[in-house]
Amino acid sequence: MTGPKKRDLTKSNAQFRKAVKRLPLGVSSTFRYWGDDRTIYVDHGKGGRTWDIDGNCYVDYRLGYGPAILGYADDRVDAAARRGMEVGGVFALSTERELTVADRIAKMVPAAELVRFSNSGTEAVMAALRLARAHTGRDSYLLVEGGYHGLFDAAMWMANMEDWDTQSDRDPEVVSYGKGIPRTLKELAHLVPMNDYQRLEDTFRKYGNTLAAMLIEPIQGNCCAISADVEYVRLARKLCDDYGVLLIIDEVKTGFRVGKGGIQGIMGVRPDICTFAKAVANGYPIAVVAGREEVMRTFRYGGASHGGTYTAHSVSLAAAEECLRILDETPALETIADYGERLKAGISGILNARKIVHSYTGHPSMFGLFFAESPPNNYRDWKKSDYSFYDQMAYHLHDLGVICEPDSREPWFMCEAHGRDETCLSDTLKAVETAVDLTLE
Ligand code: PLP
Repeated sequence: MTGPKKRDLTKSNAQFRKAVKRLPLGVSSTFRYWGDDRTIYVDHGKGGRTWDIDGNCYVDYRLGYGPAILGYADDRVDAAARRGMEVGGVFALSTERELTVADRIAKMVPAAELVRFSNSGTEAVMAALRLARAHTGRDSYLLVEGGYHGLFDAAMWMANMEDWDTQSDRDPEVVSYGKGIPRTLKELAHLVPMNDYQRLEDTFRKYGNTLAAMLIEPIQGNCCAISADVEYVRLARKLCDDYGVLLIIDEVKTGFRVGKGGIQGIMGVRPDICTFAKAVANGYPIAVVAGREEVMRTFRYGGASHGGTYTAHSVSLAAAEECLRILDETPALETIADYGERLKAGISGILNARKIVHSYTGHPSMFGLFFAESPPNNYRDWKKSDYSFYDQMAYHLHDLGVICEPDSREPWFMCEAHGRDETCLSDTLKAVETAVDLTLE
């Protein structure tokens, strides 16, 4: 089979050569750099599609790493954001809309008894951890291997699988994501593999009395959408209660996406603190830290410090009000999940016809595609697996007008606009079929 007509990236390549002189790697977020000749510069997005500056059109399953839950440039949310603009921006004072949006969040997420706003997922999780430390008077915390909670120092610890002996019972070494993270912080961070009940119990037995919090993404939005067993999250809840540790469920990716009440609602596990960001305002920058009243009241003078010049910015807040109204009052989330199911079924049809063994992780609105009979149970499983087929396929998909993350750890994200535009599904499946055949060559 001959390859597909390659995308023309002439303008993106020229833009890269200019941009790299002013912006490190030519981008504003390191993860947007895909190589000198594959880094894309966007012209605009609308609905479930993105157009680059060369005029190439992509069905977009990255959606800005998840925020565009309704689709890019949603008319309803953008009109609300314009109304927010008329309010005036930021005042170093509060507005009535903060309560309106907080009430909506509390209605959708029962654990969100009290609510504070932040600007990004990183800020929200940082605030959540500080809150837990202030409330418990402890400094250490527990993370789950393969999780991602943002770019603040305390969240930048991971299990080093490079030198890890898969046969050994020894846990992998804890190392920082990149340089610049103070080594002195390392002793505060403990890691456990997802869905390993025994290690979770052992870790609590060993460190439970020193932990302020356990942070968990029950669907790991940065590790192939690997999902925790409900029983595992329940065990985490119980152990947290037994040892006086606060359970933080990080719903930055799952929140207002997998269900109105997030993954905690689906699993029926109530965290002490939870964090939201991406889908709150369809891409306008706003995040949420919320939780149990007694804990949240630790945000006070003399307690945990929280604030920020841009918190509850009038534009983002107005966008959040409209986006959450749509997610709460219309069948948008059903449309999204239904599209995800149809896409998975279509991809499976193509793969099954070629006898390619595969499985899915996560939720139809954010799923991982995995080339093995059963999906990985945790980061260790993923690391041991062969993901080269996925990587090759993703590479071809980009050339064929479908944007998914080139790294199989990032899930495919669906939006409402995908579900309303039937050509998204047919265009995607056509591209998948060709990409699979090219990968098999
Ligand atoms: N927590 C989770 C689960 C995330 O997926 C992310 C980002 O992808 C963050 C926190 C950090 O959010 P942000 O990029 O908005 O700072």
